[in-house]
Amino acid sequence: MQTSFTLAQLADPDVAESEKILRACVHCGFCTATCPTYVLDGNELDSPRGRIYLIKDMLENDRPATAEVTLHIDRCLSCLACMTTCPSGVHYMHLVDHARAHIEKTYRRPAHERLLRTALAKLLPYPQRFRLVLAAALAGKPFARLAGAVGLKRLAAMLQLAPGHLPHRAIAPQTFQPAGAKKGRVALLAGCVNDLLAPQINAAAIRVLTRLGIEVVVAEGSGCCGSLVHHMGREGEALSQARANIDAWTALGPLDAVVVTTSGCGTTVKDYGFMFRTDSIYAERAAKVAGLARDITEYLATLPLRSAPATPGLVVAYHAACSLQHGQRVRRQPRELLGKLGFTVKDVRDGHLCCGSAGTYNILQPNIARRLRERKVRTIEELRPDVIAAGNIGCMTQIAAGTKLPAVHTIELIDWATGGPCPPSLRERWSQTAVRSNAAAS
Ligand code: SF4
Ligand code: SF4
Repeated sequence: MQTSFTLAQLADPDVAESEKILRACVHCGFCTATCPTYVLDGNELDSPRGRIYLIKDMLENDRPATAEVTLHIDRCLSCLACMTTCPSGVHYMHLVDHARAHIEKTYRRPAHERLLRTALAKLLPYPQRFRLVLAAALAGKPFARLAGAVGLKRLAAMLQLAPGHLPHRAIAPQTFQPAGAKKGRVALLAGCVNDLLAPQINAAAIRVLTRLGIEVVVAEGSGCCGSLVHHMGREGEALSQARANIDAWTALGPLDAVVVTTSGCGTTVKDYGFMFRTDSIYAERAAKVAGLARDITEYLATLPLRSAPATPGLVVAYHAACSLQHGQRVRRQPRELLGKLGFTVKDVRDGHLCCGSAGTYNILQPNIARRLRERKVRTIEELRPDVIAAGNIGCMTQIAAGTKLPAVHTIELIDWATGGPCPPSLRERWSQTAVRSNAAAS
């Protein structure tokens, strides 16, 4: 695609990067077929190619974002399916991140929108504050339907997604010693939302890693990876959250990996090198941390995992989180690990399409998110699985809100099959399955 940025514009490294991305696009439109928002409504402006044109026009003319551009960029899930499909290697992620930051700087959203976004940015990344929100949401949960009926769709979405139990506590900074001889040392990103909603995920990761002889450190000072605010265009906050992690992990000394159990966070940590590329103080350390980042399944695939004598052998519908399959290109490892441990893994039809979770998307765009969830749940349920596995708490929460099937993290199944406990959400169902198969065997 031809561009016409001036030399003065190109002196800005963000504009120069975006120009490079725009020039790579040959507007072939292959990406439209795999874009969830285009698939839903067929609007070119809600396709990657349409958004690329809108962004080009806005940046090239150095214009403040308009309501129209903001609408279509806001509807983008940042699922990155378009990057998987694009034959020209267009780095849509960096382009849309730049556009979001530009919108945040130049567009004044309506007051209620500003309030909601500020609340999300100031509450979600901070476990202590978010705990209070979850406790309040638990009290309001019975009124989710009512909120939806009177038009408070975002409140309804938030209440529906809130867990039906009191929030847990975030994991404290500490070191988990390996069982037996030490064979490696990793930092674990505890994350901000993960532990409050589902502490069993990191607990399972720690059990599996330490069983394999890996020392696991939850570093003092590490916290939210920055992706929640990054996707809202709040660059300054995202960079400062990322800096805290870089400092915390660098202070630990030699590490084999920074292990992440939430794939949305993993995609962002792997991008720290790019985010700090022009920062003379952090660039080198950020690139090093980014190079160490591994999804838990990616890291485990390099270790000798062995299944416990009695493997559960359930049918698993594997939901490939967009951030894992498109953002990090980790596709093979979760399936292979589960298969190797005795599970029957089934791929979900149209698995490239997002479930509608996408960070805060299911709160900010509840209608599109609900339609994507309904579609995803239909394609999962047709597999008649015993359980849904995913590598991202956001997907688990989003999908679980639309089905009675249990949704667990992939690492929970890996832990269970290698000697750990049955995942909490499977306990009742597993005992029924076990009773059925015992009856069939006798
Ligand atoms: S597939 Fe790639 S090159 Fe083709 S329109 Fe989409 S982003 Fe551009
Ligand atoms: S990131 Fe996802 S929603 Fe956004 S343009 Fe690409 S495919 Fe469409």
